[in-house]
Amino acid sequence: MQKIEHIGIAVASLEQSIHKYELLLGVSCYKVEEVASEAVKTAFFMVGDTKIELLEGTIPESVISKYVSSKGEGIHHIAYGVTDIKAEMIRLKNEGFRVLNEEPKAGADNKWVCFVHPKDANGVLTELCQERN
Ligand code: ZN
Repeated sequence: MQKIEHIGIAVASLEQSIHKYELLLGVSCYKVEEVASEAVKTAFFMVGDTKIELLEGTIPESVISKYVSSKGEGIHHIAYGVTDIKAEMIRLKNEGFRVLNEEPKAGADNKWVCFVHPKDANGVLTELCQERN
């Protein structure tokens, strides 16, 4: 894996959290994007080489909405940038990690993404992401 691409933070209100994170980080949100297939709205901030991704569920059934109602707001996942996501998925499966999707899926911010089960990474939901061309 190349670097920490972003840290995902689950929030109850994207609008309020964007404002708060602009104040906290001292940078403006550069993108707000809805990922309809995941029922989330996302907002991105650039902090040096790494991004912060805020996520709000758009419907009560969204995984993010459920996360916020059961665990509260907070860090939801860590995403690692990779150059060959399919090769990394195979490598991780061979190492015994549960990769949560069979194929990379189209995620926010022009990425191919896949997730590794949090129980296989000491309680941390782990995302791999690769730039989509
Ligand atoms: Zn993410």
